[in-house]
Amino acid sequence: MRKAVMAVAVAGSLAWSTMTGAAPPKPSSIPERALGQAAQLRETALASDLAWRITESLTTEIGPRLPGTEADARAVAWAEAKFRELGFDRVWTEPVTFPKWVRRSERADVLGANAQPLALTALGGSPGGTVEAEVVRFQGLAALEAAPAGSLAGKIAFVDFDMPRSREGSGYAVGSKVRGRGPTTAAAKGALAFLMRPAGTDSHRFGHTGITRFDEGVTPIPSAALSAPDAQQLTRLLALGPQRVRVALDCGWDGTATSHNVIGEIRGSRRPDEVVLIGAHLDSWDLGTGAIDDGAGIGITMAAGALIGRLPKAPARTVRVVAFANEEQGLLGARAYAARHANAVARHIVGAESDFGAGRIYGYSSSAPAHAQAADAAIARALEPLGIAHMPGTGSPGPDIGPMAQQGMAWARLAQDGTDYFDLHHTADDTLDKIDPAALAQNAAAYAVFAYLVASMDGDFGSAPRPRPVPQPAPVPARAR
Ligand code: ZN
Ligand code: ZN
Repeated sequence: MRKAVMAVAVAGSLAWSTMTGAAPPKPSSIPERALGQAAQLRETALASDLAWRITESLTTEIGPRLPGTEADARAVAWAEAKFRELGFDRVWTEPVTFPKWVRRSERADVLGANAQPLALTALGGSPGGTVEAEVVRFQGLAALEAAPAGSLAGKIAFVDFDMPRSREGSGYAVGSKVRGRGPTTAAAKGALAFLMRPAGTDSHRFGHTGITRFDEGVTPIPSAALSAPDAQQLTRLLALGPQRVRVALDCGWDGTATSHNVIGEIRGSRRPDEVVLIGAHLDSWDLGTGAIDDGAGIGITMAAGALIGRLPKAPARTVRVVAFANEEQGLLGARAYAARHANAVARHIVGAESDFGAGRIYGYSSSAPAHAQAADAAIARALEPLGIAHMPGTGSPGPDIGPMAQQGMAWARLAQDGTDYFDLHHTADDTLDKIDPAALAQNAAAYAVFAYLVASMDGDFGSAPRPRPVPQPAPVPARAR
């Protein structure tokens, strides 16, 4: 599902000596006193509503935060002020520049004998335009890919597919691939517009947006996701006979914009130059208020940092919370962060991102190499009372952690229950009322315990600079964005 990142996971498990040719480092360990402090921190965080109040503040005062918009700029100012209000020792921003995409209006109608409206939403990156044409339906992306060259000339391509529900959200691999590759594939075969069943698991009457991208040399076409019931309705109509549909989208790229990664630090007491990075993304799509994606992650990680900051004594290392800019349109903030901090990979002891909604955390895993596995197991034991199982050897870093992990930063994953995530993800229903405050507190407790223990650890977690990967164009986001 995320090949580059999976490669990082494999490399992370290689023996240290194989990677460096040097003698293996001393085993890392967590001081007994830190384990006692972490147990207290866990209970304090479980009883705190701080993550909820932060998430409520962001989603209420700012609302949706489409990258590059006026609201996005207000979110940056909000994050800076919130870090300060929460007592972070150092707060700053780092600029991120990217193309800006805007949505103005969207509509679709079946024409002719069965005339009726269809509910849909434009995909991010779609151009605007009005198209009236006959619809050709494909069951799955492979069927569209198999269509002969030129066979879609003058038509609207419609890709239907099944997206199963699961705790890990694995069905999204299918949906996000249709969204990422469908439009450019249809355009290359001559289609005038692209429609898809949404990359979601709900049966509500709205589409799921999300970024798509067109290959070099392909002329972009208006592209949108129907709602699931409308995709089913269109399928039934097509069974009756040919259908002409009018798709009218007013949206598109509109110059460039600059936003900011916003960073807050709780300064370490003994090794302040060494950083434990936790974070989430500050931007969101425009249809809901970006509560589960990713206001919750902002609330969880800011609260975790703030609760560590309130301890009588700061841990040895610095805890850095990053609110990443523009994750949704291609990890633009995370890429800028990785480029700016490329020379500090070894000083980033570990990174973890919360970007999979607000469900309870059920599993913990990391890239810890052999010499850090005893410390890793101690962290897992400290998380156990939160109902979190140690799942070594599973998962991969969160999306915004990926670019630093590719350069050699160690990562950890606190896996959230995503059973309902794709009912809400990138829709008008992504709003605060969908979040369970108790589950949010459990998340904040887990991030606080994890970050505090790594920040207090003797020894490292395996971060070591790797040869830089060949720069690649921003990919189509593949998961949970
Ligand atoms: Zn998203
Ligand atoms: Zn996200």
